[in-house]
Amino acid sequence: MPAIVLADAPGLDFLNSVATPVDEEVDWISDGEGLLAWLDQTGLAPRAVLDAMRVRSSAAELDEVAARARELREWFRGFVRKRKGRPLAAKDLRELEPLNQLLERDQQHGEIVTNASGGVTSFELRANRRWQSPESLLMPIAEALARLVCEEDFTYVKACEGLRCTLMFVDHTRGHARRWCSMAMCGNRAKVAAHRQRLREQGS
Ligand SMILES: [Zn+2]
Repeated sequence: MPAIVLADAPGLDFLNSVATPVDEEVDWISDGEGLLAWLDQTGLAPRAVLDAMRVRSSAAELDEVAARARELREWFRGFVRKRKGRPLAAKDLRELEPLNQLLERDQQHGEIVTNASGGVTSFELRANRRWQSPESLLMPIAEALARLVCEEDFTYVKACEGLRCTLMFVDHTRGHARRWCSMAMCGNRAKVAAHRQRLREQGS
């Protein structure tokens, strides 16, 4: 099953990497292979990097990183659930200490590259990651979580209103009226349920 990418923020897509799309819970990062596939599908890590990591690391090492990713995910879910619907406050930073500790281990360096489009060449400063150990697979995730905290207004971080749905998203719609993870998954289901309810009420 392809990864669910609908949150409008990679940090929340990460929280949505465990979900119940139909009847049974699916965890896309239940092991190392799953983590590599999820990073590939969400574009958080280049495929060449992931292929090299697969060759270089043992299955046990990759499984261990996946376990750490799941731990990170559930810790961060607690943070987001508690704070969604209102702006973050300065005191919330204290609770982000584990994330700051992880970010500290990231190894990135800048590189100037050229960018040619439409016959015009421009220079661009690109951030490269060193990807030295399996642990580095956690870094684009940590970055996505940090960006969620720093760049999104938590007022508009929402949980889907679908019954039993656990998916979260940032509501970037103009009127901030988004209620569902997607119309296809929960929106239509709710519409059908409301319609049945109305019929029942008319009948009684
Ligand atoms: Zn939903």
